[in-house]
Amino acid sequence: MTKHRSIAIDGPSGAGKSTLARALAKGLGYLYVDTGAIYRTVGLQACRTGVDPENSEAVTALLPNLEIGMGYGEDGVQRMYLNGEDVSQAIRQHEISRYASCVSALPAVRAFLLDRQRKLAEEHDVVMDGRDIGTVVLPQADVKIFLTAAPEARARRRWLELRERGEEADYDTILQDVKDRDEKDTHRATAPLRQAEDAVLADTTELDLDQSLALLMNIVKERLQA
Ligand code: C5P
Repeated sequence: MTKHRSIAIDGPSGAGKSTLARALAKGLGYLYVDTGAIYRTVGLQACRTGVDPENSEAVTALLPNLEIGMGYGEDGVQRMYLNGEDVSQAIRQHEISRYASCVSALPAVRAFLLDRQRKLAEEHDVVMDGRDIGTVVLPQADVKIFLTAAPEARARRRWLELRERGEEADYDTILQDVKDRDEKDTHRATAPLRQAEDAVLADTTELDLDQSLALLMNIVKERLQA
């Protein structure tokens, strides 16, 4: 069996992971896996069923009946299905970010999703983005990148993104949310967000999308050749 290549991209929210990882995957001809979207789908179910996302027992009870599907549109964009329903849009609502962040701190949820993520990397060449891909999910990844940017830059990007989608957005609230989520993601007991020792740090605070993509492409090419 040929071993598939894997590229792990971790970092805080709003650093441009999804957009860049998707573009990188397209450039390399790899499968793009957005693991945040999977956690968001679990969060959405908690929200819809009125379950407190911090209540481990209640969230764990949802898992056996949770059918999470993944597919890809013609545009290569990952689509998420919850019990057969396309929830790709619904999981992007601002409120669901908080739910996702809470449920993702629960060990039972992480364990439930771990094998599924590893299997994808066993079966395909992947660019996988998340918080713990280089540290926990794919510690043997061929390339690991820790992608980050200053909280203010990330909040501004999120603000622009929400406004473009026509959603109400207040910059200060978003900045606070970004900081709160960073705090939660980096300080949780299970699989906290941290840079793997062998990951390359990519800071995009001062870079636009094209420059960031060029930076990532260079890192990947260098590492794959090494
Ligand atoms: O990346 P995104 O913001 O869509 O992720 C949603 C939430 O899922 C994050 O707040 C993070 O806490 C969680 N997450 C995680 N581990 C991953 C990917 C996302 O804990 N591998």
